[in-house]
Amino acid sequence: MSNNKLIRYEFIIVGAGIVGMSVAKELTERFPSSRIAIFEKELKIGLHASGRNSGVLHSGIYYPQDSLKSAVCAEGAKLMVDFAQEHHIPCKKMGKVIIATCEEEVPTVDRLLDNAMKNNITAHRLDEQQVKEIEPHANVFHHGIYTPQTASIDNKKVLTTLQRILISRGVAFYFNAAVKAVDQHQQHIKTKQGDFHYDYLFNCAGSGTDKIAKMMGFAKDYSLLPFKGIYYKLHPQKNHLVKGNIYPVPDLNLPFLGVHFTRNMSNEVYVGPTAIPAFGRENYGLISGINLEAFRIIKDITLMYIANQQHFRALMHAEMKKYFKSHFMRASRKLIASVDFSDLISSNKVGIRPQLINTAKRKIELDYIIEQDAHSMHVLNAISPAFTGAFSFASLLVNRM
Ligand SMILES: Cc1cc2nc3c(=O)[nH]c(=O)nc-3n(C[C@H](O)[C@H](O)[C@H](O)COP(=O)(O)OP(=O)(O)OC[C@H]3O[C@@H](n4cnc5c(N)ncnc54)[C@H](O)[C@@H]3O)c2cc1C
Repeated sequence: MSNNKLIRYEFIIVGAGIVGMSVAKELTERFPSSRIAIFEKELKIGLHASGRNSGVLHSGIYYPQDSLKSAVCAEGAKLMVDFAQEHHIPCKKMGKVIIATCEEEVPTVDRLLDNAMKNNITAHRLDEQQVKEIEPHANVFHHGIYTPQTASIDNKKVLTTLQRILISRGVAFYFNAAVKAVDQHQQHIKTKQGDFHYDYLFNCAGSGTDKIAKMMGFAKDYSLLPFKGIYYKLHPQKNHLVKGNIYPVPDLNLPFLGVHFTRNMSNEVYVGPTAIPAFGRENYGLISGINLEAFRIIKDITLMYIANQQHFRALMHAEMKKYFKSHFMRASRKLIASVDFSDLISSNKVGIRPQLINTAKRKIELDYIIEQDAHSMHVLNAISPAFTGAFSFASLLVNRM
């Protein structure tokens, strides 16, 4: 098909998650008269990571100063809070305590506070008594941190609001429109809804980004290793155990924050998520979403296990066990000792992180990765806190275009 018969957009965005829609928002603000379309493989928005996360707007304390994450997290959180206020989206600064639970975790408390200082993030060192004043039931070992800016937000409402705004600004949404192939030379994409021409393509397809990038000769060094985040819900009668957010001290070699307690905008308390290896990009259930790609994933896990960078074996051992409630309990009890087995109710809240590994170095990638050429940009490894920082991240991406 020749180009002039195709519908042409100046900007085509693949993926209607928070990243894709934030890029569209930024483009409508900078280039109000441009033709923009978003292609989404599902029938509606919010079915993957952006609609399945903890709904926490992070302060940015975890990320080293030279990272893309730190460049956009704190600023993005502020923009998201403003957006919520402007559009009446439930959002509240709940604050968060990060607690050491044993001696070995204390040096990480210092590292986190150092990150906070370098990144200009408000964070207070707390002793045991001060932690207890904020979270009386937290099982703290002498040291903790309080980040007052940490907020909870109704993430699904953010997505529906964004969609409404974008439609009102003339952005075209194509659903049931998985991008199956890209002709880079002709600059067109092939979808179930037909072929379309782009001047510039933003690939923001979450767990599908690496596939599209590889079709176009990008993401050569990376492979997707999906990690499943399962949540339990705290029994409503035990909600008083958590005032805001209680997080453990994480292993900073890894991008996971550890099982935590989060009070959401409906005043429910969720406990999780795990970081269990998943055997498919959408393996939300025990076996649903597993396909032939599982063999490739198992091969990658095996090679990572042998290389054992970033304590990968210990991660596997600890996380696989969390399929069993007794082990999940153990992680929860580290933070609140009085939680009982019956206090954790199974929930259908589960998300999958589109985590990339570097296949040459056999390492889990910690930061966002951007690859691009004159006509396309690929937003790889858009893991947490990509929801928090989305507006600021979108601005950075459009600047780099
Ligand atoms: C369990 C969990 C908890 C988290 N908690 C937090 C948190 O508290 N705070 C925070 O800031 N971040 C959190 N995150 C991270 C955050 O949710 C993600 O980083 C963010 O949502 C990524 O957004 P996205 O737009 O890149 O991906 P997605 O939301 O997955 O959107 C990508 C879209 O692309 C579509 N797509 C895929 N392939 C194609 C294709 N070929 N053609 C067309 N469309 C396609 C998908 O259907 C999807 O709708 C969490 C993530 C998980 C999994």
